[in-house]
Order: sequence, then C-alpha cells, then structure tokens
Amino acid sequence: MAAPTAKPAPDILAPGATIGILGGGQLGRMLALDAARLGFKVHIYCPDTGPAFDVAAAHTIAPYEDEAALAAFAGKVDLVTYEFENVPARTAEVIARHRPLFPDARALATTQDRLAEKTFLAALGIPIAGFAEVGSAAGLETAVARLGRPSVLKTRRFGYDGKGQTLIRGDTELAAAFDAIGRQPAVLEAFVPFEREVSVVAARGRSGEFAAFDVTENRHENHILRTSSVPSSLPPAVQVEALDMAKKIADALNYVGVIGVEMFVVRADGAERLLVNELAPRVHNSGHWTQDGAETSQFEQHIRAIAGWPLGSTECLGEAEMTNLLGEEVNDWPALAAEPGVRIHLYGKGSARPGRKMGHVNRVAVKS
Ligand code: AMP
Repeated sequence: MAAPTAKPAPDILAPGATIGILGGGQLGRMLALDAARLGFKVHIYCPDTGPAFDVAAAHTIAPYEDEAALAAFAGKVDLVTYEFENVPARTAEVIARHRPLFPDARALATTQDRLAEKTFLAALGIPIAGFAEVGSAAGLETAVARLGRPSVLKTRRFGYDGKGQTLIRGDTELAAAFDAIGRQPAVLEAFVPFEREVSVVAARGRSGEFAAFDVTENRHENHILRTSSVPSSLPPAVQVEALDMAKKIADALNYVGVIGVEMFVVRADGAERLLVNELAPRVHNSGHWTQDGAETSQFEQHIRAIAGWPLGSTECLGEAEMTNLLGEEVNDWPALAAEPGVRIHLYGKGSARPGRKMGHVNRVAVKS
C-alpha cells in the first residue's frame, strides 16, 4: 500500500471541525476554550492527563512514540497543532503524513533545539548573544576560551524556566558545569547584562498575513515569569524594531500560528538595543494578558491562524498586567475574586508544588 501523503490543508476550517492538539497543559486548555467559542471541537493527545482534558471534547492518552495511536488520532481530527515545543520530530513527521500540522515540522525542529534556533537567527541577521556549540567538557573549555566568563551553559533541548542551564562564573569548574546540565549536547552563550526582558507575541496566517500584539515587558523571579505588562517603556523606534524582527523570523519560517519571541534589552552607547533570546513555536505565557487586554486573545488568534480565518485585531485595550499564580499562591483565589477588575484564570491543577504555574490573573485599565 502506498504511504499516505499529507492532505492539503482546507483553505478555511469551518466551525464544527475538530482541531487536534498535542499536549494537555494549561496552554492546551486555553486554546481549547477559545476554539470552542469559535465553534470548533478539540481533541487533546497527551501521554498523561492534564488541565486541557477538562475542557476538550475528546482526548487520547498515549505516548508520543505510539505511531498507531497517532494515526488513529489524526484520523479523527481535521488539522493538528501543539502547545509545547518538545514534540518529538518523529511524532510531527507521523502526524504530518496524515493531517496538516501548524506550525509545521520545520518550525518545530528549528525552535526545539537551541543550536538550530541560534544558527537560524544568526543567518537571518537577527541580533543575538554570541554562542558556541558544546558537545563535551573539552568543547566547553574551548567555548569558554572564546566567549569568556561569565557565560551561560544551556542544554540544546528540553530547557524551560531556567532548567537545563547553569551560569559559568569566574571560578566555576567547567567539568562540574558540564556535569550540572547532565553532560548533554549544549550551547554556551555569552552573558547578556540586560536591563529588561521583553517579548513579542505575534501571529502569521496561512497566506502570510502578520499581526503582532504590543511589545510586552516581562519580569522574572527565580527564572520563572512573574509579570507581563503593556505598554512597555521601550522607545517607539525600538518597539517597531522588535515587531519587525518577529515578522522577519515568522516569514523566514513560513510560520503559521502564534509565535513568542523573547528578547533582552541592553544598553549600548546610551541607547537601548534588542537581542533575541529565544523563540517559542506556540502561544506564550507573556501573551496571557491578551485574554482581557486585547481585542483578540493570543489563543483565539492561534486558532484563527491555523484554521485559515482572518487574523483578529491585536489592538490593546489599555494598560494591562498579567501576574502568574505560582504554587500555593493559587490559594489566594478568594481575595482575588473579591478584588474589582481582576480577571482570574485557573488551570484546575491538583497539586500546588512550589513554582508550578497554577493560574494567572489579568488586571486591565481600559483606556477611555
Ligand atoms: P531561557 O531559558 O533561555 O529563556 O533563560 C531563562 C532566563 O535566564 C532568561 O529569561 C534570563 O533571565 C536568563 N538568561 C538566559 N540567558 C542569559 C544570558 N545569555 N545572559 C544573561 N541572562 C540570561
């Protein structure tokens, strides 16, 4: 029997169709909620139960390596997207043989590997921190000799919220640093003495249309995002530059869906400049404010983009701030519920482990 070939994506996915989502976390949950509002059904595929299961029409619990389960899942949906970037390449390949996958396998491969991502960004002329590939402790010695100290050693894959990375200080023993990240394939990055961190959350549609939300200013604590707010205090010209960079990246990837572009703001010769830190091929925590602070939420925008609908307006409704509820902070819900103007988004997770993202709140001062 001939191998099935990828079905071309229908130009426009009509309400009533089913969208498959790989991953069952809070991003999948919020995608499913907005998809339902647009009349779609969602089928979640995930190895374990998660926050998205409560709000999805159907789910499959199976490993990402189970090709029979993937094929059966693909047979029940009209197109597939994902809510996390660590979908194995082989999984993406199997899915794409049966159904359209957005963002596509190339976008996934480029953004799930820090080395591939940095190589792509550098080739595109996007400003980034100096970097070097590290495959061994000896390779780390060479890379540190080139990039200097301090510098940051990061695993190529599976890093998030500061996990899978370690700071190389003046006195750090390099073999121990390589051990600390599990002796995995890695990249070394020059340390960036940034003043602030910002991000651009943007969408690119099937025919190349592009719409970005306002540049968002992000504050982290212990490597975990604490707040995201708009408007950012970047000078207007630098904001334009940030949006232009996001567009250039999305165009070069022929990207379809919402993308998150994290950036460092550094000061050089008295002026603020941007360096791209990382790309997320999905909706992004720093875009959660759009649920209550923009005309279209990033979740609806992602569904619109992959379904071939016109992109929604990214107009900002006013000053907005998103605060993550980490660990036990979720237990503050009675006080938050009593606070006027606070919009509460809880993920329905059971155990409030320290640092775990349990929900978030948005506070918006709508402009008059
Ligand atoms: P990442 O996992 O690459 O997003 O890094 C997590 C956080 O670590 C960033 O948000 C920064 O606060 C910090 N960080 C990462 N890379 C660097 C760097 N090259 N220089 C300074 N700080 C960094």
